[in-house]
Amino acid sequence: MSDLVIELPPAPTLEVAGTNKRFGVRRIYCIGRNYAAHAIEMGHNPDREDPFFFQKNPNNLDSSGEFPYPPRSSDVHHEIEMAVALHSGGSNIPLASALDHVFGYGIALDMTRRDLQAEQKKAGRPWEIAKAFERSAPCGPIHPASSVGHLDSGRVLLEVNGQRRQEGDLNQMIWKVPEMISYLSDYFELAAGDIILSGTPSGVAAVERGDVMKAEIEGLGSLSVSVV
Ligand code: MN
Repeated sequence: MSDLVIELPPAPTLEVAGTNKRFGVRRIYCIGRNYAAHAIEMGHNPDREDPFFFQKNPNNLDSSGEFPYPPRSSDVHHEIEMAVALHSGGSNIPLASALDHVFGYGIALDMTRRDLQAEQKKAGRPWEIAKAFERSAPCGPIHPASSVGHLDSGRVLLEVNGQRRQEGDLNQMIWKVPEMISYLSDYFELAAGDIILSGTPSGVAAVERGDVMKAEIEGLGSLSVSVV
């Protein structure tokens, strides 16, 4: 018998592509402004400065194919990002061995209440209400690196209702995947089940109910999500 005074829901999981197994998620780290063109469109310096991260909650992940338009915002943006899923971790991970901790890669959307984020930025406040809301991280299956390799280039594309909105290439990341892992591990103890959202190329824009977002990353297939 459990000695818990309340029952906890099981840990969120993601499908592992090509298998009937699932990847259990422990934490979600997200990097900000990791593509120069996106930093510029948001009014920031595109130079390589120290990276910064925020977190979403594991239970913000959603694989239903539907994104419910969240309350308290009238400017919700899509951000297509490659998700990096770790099968191990640690602290002070050297750059040279960082990729050894990667289980695989997937396609995620870092959905953002842009109006609230702008208010929080202006007030010098944290971003949770803009970033870590319910179902704010639509995510497709995780493709094991043992099948798809380690991705450091490849086209990143997001269309809304068939119209191209975001386009870039994984090779445009300011901070590369091994660098993000190594940097994060200096501040946090990374572990199996951690996911890193690796930033978004330019072209972020608002969605409306009824829109269909189609996200593609070369080598990882595509993810279709309806705004409801
Ligand atoms: Mn983002």
